[in-house]
Amino acid sequence: MSQALQAVRGMNDILPDETPLWERFEDTVRAWLKSYGYRNIRMPLVEPTPLFRRAIGEATDIVEKEMYSFVDELNGEHLTLRPEGTASCVRAVVQHNLLYGGPQRLWYSGPMFRHERPQKGRYRQFHQIGVEALGLAGPDIDAEHLLMCARLWDDLGISGVRLHLNSLGSRAERHRHREALVAYLQEHRDALDEDSRRRLVTNPLRVLDSKNPAMQALIEGAPRMLDYLGDESAAHFEGVQAVLRGAGIPFRIDPRLVRGLDYYNLTVSEWVTDRLGAQGTVCGGGRYDGLVELVGGKPAPACGFAMGVERLVALMREAGVADAGEALDVYLVHQGAAADAFAFTVAERLRDHGFSVLHHAGPGGFKAQMKRADASGAAVAVIIGDDEAAAGEASVKALREERPQTRAPLDALPAALSDILYGERTD
Ligand code: ATP
Ligand code: MG
Repeated sequence: MSQALQAVRGMNDILPDETPLWERFEDTVRAWLKSYGYRNIRMPLVEPTPLFRRAIGEATDIVEKEMYSFVDELNGEHLTLRPEGTASCVRAVVQHNLLYGGPQRLWYSGPMFRHERPQKGRYRQFHQIGVEALGLAGPDIDAEHLLMCARLWDDLGISGVRLHLNSLGSRAERHRHREALVAYLQEHRDALDEDSRRRLVTNPLRVLDSKNPAMQALIEGAPRMLDYLGDESAAHFEGVQAVLRGAGIPFRIDPRLVRGLDYYNLTVSEWVTDRLGAQGTVCGGGRYDGLVELVGGKPAPACGFAMGVERLVALMREAGVADAGEALDVYLVHQGAAADAFAFTVAERLRDHGFSVLHHAGPGGFKAQMKRADASGAAVAVIIGDDEAAAGEASVKALREERPQTRAPLDALPAALSDILYGERTD
C-alpha cells in the first residue's frame, strides 16, 4: 500500500458530523442578510497579484508574508489565492460599473487563503462572510453594519461578543498623527522589536497593532489617533456612536485598534470574545473610502466588515447551539429480485411527496438492513419483500416509537408515512 496522502497543513476537511452546524450558521446568515436588503456577489478565488498588493498595502502581514502567490506557467501571469474578499469585491464593482446603478449593499462568502502558522482558530484556508456597502458616506451606514452584527450574534445564539471601536480619521489627519507617532517611536527605538523597527519605516501605524507582550507598555504611551481627528472626522465618529447608544449596543473605544489592512479610514471596528483563547476576534471591518479609486474606479465611499466562520461556528458549538441536522425520514429496506426493482419506484414516489429516502444499496438480508435502518437515524423503515412487490405494496415500520407494523398500497404510502412523521403520537 502506498503512503496515505494528507491535506495541506492548515487546510481542513469539514466532515459530515460538523457540516450541520455550518449549515445552521449559513441558513441564519442568509436570512439575516436578506432582512437588511444585502445582495449576494460571487468573485473568483484567484485574482491578479497586483490587486492585493495595491489594495491591501505592501507593508501589511498579508502582503508581506501570507499570500499564496504563483506564476501561471501557461501565460506568465502573477496570480494569488484571495486572502480576503474586499479587494475582489471592489474590483468586481468597478469592473462592472455597479455604482452607476446607485449605492450597493453586497455580501459574499467563501474560503480565503493566508500562509499563517496554523493553530486553534487560525488556518491557512478559512472562511469568511463579507459585507460591503459602497457609495454611501454617512455614519449611518457604519452604524447599520454594527447593528447588523449585534443582531447576528443574537440570531446565532451566541453571547459575550464585545464591540471595540476606533476612528482612523482622514488621510491628512493620519499623516499628522503618523509624524507624531514616528517621533515617539524613534525616541524609544531601543525598546522596539525587529518587526516594529522595520514598520517604523514602512508603516508605523502597524506598530500599534503588534501583539508582542514586551511592546505593550510602549504602545500604551504612544500618541493616540483620536487626538488628531478634525471636526468632520470627530462628528462622523460621534454619529456612529450615537446610533449605537440609541440601540443600546455597548462598545469600547480602543485607541490601539488600527486593523491589519491599509485601506481603512474613519471608523474601524472589531468584535471580540474571551471564549476562543488567543484567536478571539470574530469580526472586523470599517470604512475604506479610498479603495474604489485605488482599484481604478471613480472615487466612491465604502465600508464593510468580514467575519471568520470557523471562529463563529466554534462559538456556536461552545454555546451548545443545536445544528440544522435534518433527520432522515425513510430507510428503504428491500430483498428479492422483484422487490429490488419495485424499490426504485417506491423511493422516487416518496421523494415526489417530499420525503427524504435512503435507499439501501449493496448486500444484506432483512435483519442486517433493519440494523442499518436503525443506525441511519431514519424515523421509518419502509420494507419491501417479493410479497409486497407482487401486490404493489410496502410495509411500514416506525423506528423511533412503539407502533404496530402496517402495510399499505403504493398510493396510500405517503399518508401512512405522514401519520407517523407528523401525526399525533400514540405513545
Ligand atoms: P487576526 O488579527 O486574527 O490575524 P485579521 O485582522 O488578520 O485577524 P481580518 O483580515 O480582519 O483578520 O479578517 C476578518 C476575520 O476573519 C477575523 O476577525 C477572523 O475572525 C477571521 N480570520 C482572519 N484570519 C484568519 C485565519 N487565518 N484563520 C481563521 N480565521 C481568520
Ligand atoms: Mg491576520
